[in-house]
Amino acid sequence: MAVRRIVYLGEPVLREQAGAIEEISDDVVALAQDLVETMLEADGLGLAAPQIGEARRVIAVRVVGEDREDEGDRPRVVVLINPEIVATSDEREEGTEGCLSLPTLQGQVERHVGVEVKAVGVDGEEIVVSAEGIVARALQHEIDHLDGIVFIDRAQPDSLVWLVPDEDEEDGYREEPTTVEEVVARFEKISKRRMARAAGKS
Ligand code: ZN
Repeated sequence: MAVRRIVYLGEPVLREQAGAIEEISDDVVALAQDLVETMLEADGLGLAAPQIGEARRVIAVRVVGEDREDEGDRPRVVVLINPEIVATSDEREEGTEGCLSLPTLQGQVERHVGVEVKAVGVDGEEIVVSAEGIVARALQHEIDHLDGIVFIDRAQPDSLVWLVPDEDEEDGYREEPTTVEEVVARFEKISKRRMARAAGKS
């Protein structure tokens, strides 16, 4: 298992249509483990394989909520292979989203309040996950990644803000409004640098 480099917006893999997993081979199991390790290390709620550079349909999502608190040792995490949304609530709600591939950015995104997701587990068994609220939001966000969609594509355009550290603010940061264009341009620049550095290492 390994903590992998998280890809930022601007690397092509984040915009690809990820390929279905045909067989749960050893490398798929290893990918699933790396996904979980990397997500936990980055303290994320979810992570999709393209975010660690692999255009394959695997996601990890943290199961949180009133009745499913992280119980002391390891947080509860579910890994879903070839996940598919099979049912959605009619009700939708706006909520705040961020993404490990677009660090320090937040926006308001409208999502289904509840979803039912069918997938295959790492053990090859079919799993059906019914979720509401924050877990349903995370599932929709991560499954979007498998289709090359990131949250800025769905966010209310005037809701995008950078979180800028600011010791005078109560939360320790202030919100600075931005635009989709500025976000894309900024991450493109950062990604170019990071890709060059990563290529130099290998
Ligand atoms: Zn994301």
